[in-house]
Amino acid sequence: MPNENGGSGGCLCGGVHYRVDGRLADVGACHCGQCRKTTGHYFAATSCDRSALTFEADETLAWYQSSAGARRGFCSRCGASLFWERNDSGKIDILAGTLDQPTGLKMTNHIYVDDKGDYYDITDGLPQYGQYR
Ligand SMILES: [Zn+2]
Ligand SMILES: [Zn+2]
Repeated sequence: MPNENGGSGGCLCGGVHYRVDGRLADVGACHCGQCRKTTGHYFAATSCDRSALTFEADETLAWYQSSAGARRGFCSRCGASLFWERNDSGKIDILAGTLDQPTGLKMTNHIYVDDKGDYYDITDGLPQYGQYR
């Protein structure tokens, strides 16, 4: 379920705080190896237009170029995983756990389940895709 009204969120220490004035998409989960490593479990994120995202605090926001085509935003002080942004896409993924509650969102699918951690099962009944959707 998307949220047409946007929202706000940030990292654990408060060094990064953001607002979204616009639509937040359904939450999707990614179980790929990169997402496992960067989050410590799996990645669950909404997305919005990059132009809808503004920062009220970003002094500790840092970026890691995790592949040729995309970078990941995180807090350099508390270590929170916050964003995933494909180069020049005009969109940005926002880790759902960083949003202030209530989010008004629902998770709707799982991708890269062929690569998921071997220590858990996905039992929520949502659609699963071996790689990309
Ligand atoms: Zn922080
Ligand atoms: Zn992934």
